[in-house]
Amino acid sequence: MASEFDLIRRHFTRPAAQAVLGIGDDCALLKVAADCELAISTDMLVSGVHFFADARADWLGHKALAVNLSDLAAMGATPRWAMLALALPAGDEDWLTQFSSGFFALAQQYGVELVGGDTTRGPLNICITVGGEVPPGRALRRDAAKRGDDIWVTGTLGDAALALALLTGEADIAEEDAAQLLQRLHRPTPRIEAGLALREHAHAAIDVSDGLAADLGHILESSHCGASIHLQQIPLSPQFTRNVAKSRAKLAAQWKLGGGDDYELCFTAPDALCA
Ligand code: ADP
Ligand code: MG
Repeated sequence: MASEFDLIRRHFTRPAAQAVLGIGDDCALLKVAADCELAISTDMLVSGVHFFADARADWLGHKALAVNLSDLAAMGATPRWAMLALALPAGDEDWLTQFSSGFFALAQQYGVELVGGDTTRGPLNICITVGGEVPPGRALRRDAAKRGDDIWVTGTLGDAALALALLTGEADIAEEDAAQLLQRLHRPTPRIEAGLALREHAHAAIDVSDGLAADLGHILESSHCGASIHLQQIPLSPQFTRNVAKSRAKLAAQWKLGGGDDYELCFTAPDALCA
């Protein structure tokens, strides 16, 4: 295995863009805009728990960053920095090349700079911390829903759960729809632009990582509200609708309400939003 320093230099060091000091010293030095709050969040992906051990490395690089950026989106924060703590079973150069290409492709898309991390040998584990900026008092918090708000979601729900069910043999999906559904599971899109736009309109927001029922539940609990959801009004993709008919109705409801991994935003807003 190449030395830890070679590995970091080859796979994770890019020219500094916005950090005062990036990878290479004991700490990174960052400058937060004087008129902003720092939004910061960490998410860990564990092999065998959050992904299959033989998952494509470029997709993993994408997903590990995407799920973290999704948390910034849910706060209405502008992504700026990332830290990457990696435990690797072996210094597999091909795996690292693929992983970093997936990671940096997404990082570049959202102007995120990798400013540091840690690399160690161990069972595959990917832990990313992201930082972003949000104007003071403007973050979309879970505790800010108001009585009478409507509940919205970006995009469609249940797709990632259905894709996972395909992989575990619980669902049968038409071949022409499988690829698109699997992309929803393996390469989620963090709803950054929606999060930023929602600062003007939404009261509360959360990203749907554990399923609508659980995640909306967090908003309701923090905001001391209740809600009623019309199951028929949950937005579904044509791929979901086409393929779910082949499954038991009970599972369909479970995927819509309880399916995690979609990384859409669920938010509440005054009903004037749709006027
Ligand atoms: P230290 O011994 O001070 O913890 P390390 O040897 O762990 O420093 O890391 C050296 C530098 O490389 C630090 O700037 C650290 O942030 C960075 N680094 C280590 N691993 C990663 C990684 N996987 N991705 C990005 N930066 C990393
Ligand atoms: Mg270290």
